[in-house]
Formats: sequence, structure tokens, C-alpha cells
Amino acid sequence: MGASETRFDVTVIGSGPGGYVAAVRAAQLGMKTAVVEMAPLPGGTCLHTGCIPTKALLHAADVLETARDAQKFGVRVQGVELDLDAVRKYKEKTVTSNAKGVEYLFKKNGVTLLAGRGRLAGRGRVEVTPPGGKPLLVLSPKVVLATGSAIRGLSGVLFDGERILSSDDALRMKALPASMIVLGAGAVGVEFASIYASFGSKVTLVELLPRILPLEDAALGTELERALAKRGIVVHTGTRVESVRRDDRGVRLEAQKAGASLRLEAETLLVAVGRRPLTENLGLEGTGVRLDRGFVVVDTMMRTGEPDVYAIGDIVPTQALAHVASHEGIVAVEHAAGLLPHAIDYDRIPSCTYSRPEVASIGLSEEEARRRGHDVVIGTFPFSAVGKAKILDERAGFVRIIAEKKYDEVLGVQILGPHATELISEGTAALSLEATCASLIEAIHAHPTLAEAMGEAALAVHGRAIHM
Ligand SMILES: Cc1cc2nc3c(=O)[nH]c(=O)nc-3n(C[C@H](O)[C@H](O)[C@H](O)COP(=O)(O)OP(=O)(O)OC[C@H]3O[C@@H](n4cnc5c(N)ncnc54)[C@H](O)[C@@H]3O)c2cc1C
Repeated sequence: MGASETRFDVTVIGSGPGGYVAAVRAAQLGMKTAVVEMAPLPGGTCLHTGCIPTKALLHAADVLETARDAQKFGVRVQGVELDLDAVRKYKEKTVTSNAKGVEYLFKKNGVTLLAGRGRLAGRGRVEVTPPGGKPLLVLSPKVVLATGSAIRGLSGVLFDGERILSSDDALRMKALPASMIVLGAGAVGVEFASIYASFGSKVTLVELLPRILPLEDAALGTELERALAKRGIVVHTGTRVESVRRDDRGVRLEAQKAGASLRLEAETLLVAVGRRPLTENLGLEGTGVRLDRGFVVVDTMMRTGEPDVYAIGDIVPTQALAHVASHEGIVAVEHAAGLLPHAIDYDRIPSCTYSRPEVASIGLSEEEARRRGHDVVIGTFPFSAVGKAKILDERAGFVRIIAEKKYDEVLGVQILGPHATELISEGTAALSLEATCASLIEAIHAHPTLAEAMGEAALAVHGRAIHM
């Protein structure tokens, strides 16, 4: 073996929630494992510019709202104000401590972190180029591609980090803009709209499709729009932006809505219209790895068309979520180790939006259940009738269960309201266990809890909710 050559059983390129979990699992299975990462710290988008920092900002926003509302619970709080510098420091501390956690997991499990840019360099070979250093050749019979995604912009509109922002820029803001237009009302756009509205910016949310959170059941998008409007967020759905202009004072957008022209102005524009898979410069040319619109084509074991090369996470055309990436990583390396893991059921992936109020769902939407020919029964129970929600004074929203009539099976669960993103785990368990509504009814929910709404929604499917 030459000085710049090293050997591993499996090499993972990328250390996001897909890559680092794959590496830890591979090491648990006894494989000599390396992770290649080109960023200074492991953890990927999720940890550095995605899930973790946004949720830290959302938590700060929640604390601010709670402090503002404290009086209604008989608690007098004076001088409530936002300290954006301190919020940023808290967010950065949270991110760093999580990144250290990933490094600890690597150490504990004997995973080697190779700093640099990785690419395939022939069968069973990965080339790692450290910043400014000499390339290292890694001989590795199994390779997992986990390079994630990058921000997608609008054609002809350049991010400048000041007036026209990406989600990365919006995490780093040093001053609070008086007004902000958020373009794109998927989970990321809605979360930033929620954060900045809580902080005190005047927020306008613009979405091309007919409703916000367009990937969720219509019932959720419609109700969330109402709730955001109550918070003073202006929402324009079905709105096509035709031009964006910036000047020293701000941004001006020309748009079309329902056949009429619309002009929108704000100090800043946040573009949150999605991400693109990072599959360039990975040495895929001339290999059996096939791309479809930039995404790597894989089978249910996450195998690409190239023998012993797997792909997971945001570079494959499945839901772009951290927990999906992690599970795909586990499937890939378990298969690489010769095990026979269960294929992922992509109909049973929880999807969460951590706005105020929160939204969470799992399973089939009403529309999709009907499209698949199910005889659907729906049970909805409002938080306004739940004792704990009254205690919290968070009465907006509901739990909604989509069930199948003949077998009583739970097909989908949708929640809008306080702690929806935690409560959805009961729905996850229900779908995973192929639960019936009858079994959810038999499960005793503690009182007073928000989870009681789940039992009541199951009762509502049977037409016998108690508190409604
Ligand atoms: C603002 C925002 C909020 C989000 N919030 C949530 C949320 O709340 N919940 C959720 O589930 N998902 C959320 N997501 C999505 C989530 O972040 C992604 O789905 C997830 O990070 C994908 O994981 P991954 O491992 O595929 O890739 P990534 O996390 O993108 O990691 C890929 C890693 O590979 C490295 N890399 C790339 N190319 C190379 C190379 N050639 N050599 C070496 N290293 C390389 C990158 O530096 C990066 O560290 C959010 C995303 C954004 C942008």
C-alpha cells in the first residue's frame, strides 16, 4: 500500500443525517468504515443549515411569544425584547454541540473521518481531495453516496445575502428586516415566515400553487393559512412571480394572481423554492450509476446501477427529510453487510412543519386514500375541546384520522396545533403496527394531555367522540 492509499470495507461520501448514520451502523456491523466530508464539521445540511438551526430559531420565537403572552397566565414579564445577536449565539451553540455529538459517535464506533472532497475513481476506489492537499486514494469494496442537496434559486435572481436571501442567509441575519416576502410555502418557507413574524417583521408568504404546504392534505394547508393570517402574515396563494427587482431600499416583485397583476414590496426577499441534489463532480460518468433529473436512481435496497455503490438521502428521489436519509443509510449498509433489511415504506414517513401552530402528518391524505380506491371514513377532533389545549390557551387546530371503512385500519393521521410534531409519533406507531381505530380507542390516553385528541379522533371515526 502506497503512502497516499488506505483501505476500508465501506466508505460513505457525505456526513449528513444520511451519511453519518450509515457510517455508525456500518461500524456497529463490524465493517471498517470511513466517512468523507468536505465541510469543516460533520452533520450536513440538517445540522448546520437545516433542521437544527431552524428549530433553534423557532424555539427562540416561541419563547418570545410565550413571554409576550405571559400576562394572560397571570405572570408579569417586563421589558420583553428580542436580542438577535444572542439568539444567533444560542443557535450556533446548539449546532456546534450537535456536531460534536456526531464526532463523538464516530470516535465511539471507530469510524474514520476523512476531510476533503470525495469522488468515485473506478470500481472499489474513492479519491479524497483535502482542501489544498494531496489526493488520497481509498480502496473500498462498498461505497455509499450521501452528498445531499444545495439551495435552488430563481432563474435570473441572484442571492446577495442582504436583500435577496437563501435559507442559509436567513439563518445568519444580523438585523431584523422591517418586512420580508417569503417565496415558497413549503415547510421551509412556512417555518421562516413563522420565525420572522414572531420576531416582529411584517411577513408576506407567496406560493405558486393553490394552497400553502401543497404536499400536505388540503385540510392542513387551508387551516394553517387561516392561523397564519390571524398572526398577521399575509398569504398569497396561486401567485406567480414574474419579476424581482432590488434597489437600496428593498425588493419589488411583480406577480400574477387570479388573472390580475400584483405588486409586492419589502425590505428583504427570502427565496425558499426548494433544493437540488448534489450529484455533480462525483465521478459518476462512465459508471453504472444512473441519474434522473439529477437524482440517483436506486432500488429498494438503495443500490445504484453500479455494483456495490449505494445512494441515500437528498440525492435520491424520495422525501427530502433527515429521518428518511438516516433510514436509507441503515438499509444501504445493512444490505452491504449481507443482511436483508426491510425496504422503507415511503407511505409511512412522518412529515412535520414546526411553525406556530405546528403541522404534522403521516400516511395517506384524504385525496390520496380515495384515489387509491379506499372507502374512507374521517374522524376529526378539535383541540378547542381538549382540556390541556385550554390550559395552554392553544385551541386552534385538530387531529384528523383517515381510516378505511371495512377493516377500520388507520391510513393517515394529520395534526395541526400545539406540539403536533411530537404528537404525530402516535400516528407513526399506529401506521407501523397497522393499527385499527378500535385499537387506538382501547389505548388509554393520559388526562389532561394533548394526546387525548388522538383517542377522540379515533372515536370520531366511529361516530362516538365523547367531548364533542
Ligand atoms: C432550512 C431547512 C430546514 C430543514 N428542516 C428539516 C426538518 O426539520 N426535518 C427534516 O427531516 N428535514 C429538514 N430539512 C431537510 C434535511 O436537512 C435534509 O433532508 C437532510 O439534511 C438530507 O440529508 P443528507 O444526508 O442526504 O444530506 P446533507 O445533510 O445535505 O449532507 C450532505 C453532506 O455531504 C457533504 N458533501 C457533499 N458533496 C461531497 C463530496 N463530494 N465530498 C465530501 N462531502 C460532500 C456536504 O458537505 C454535507 O455535509 C431541512 C432543510 C433545510 C434547508
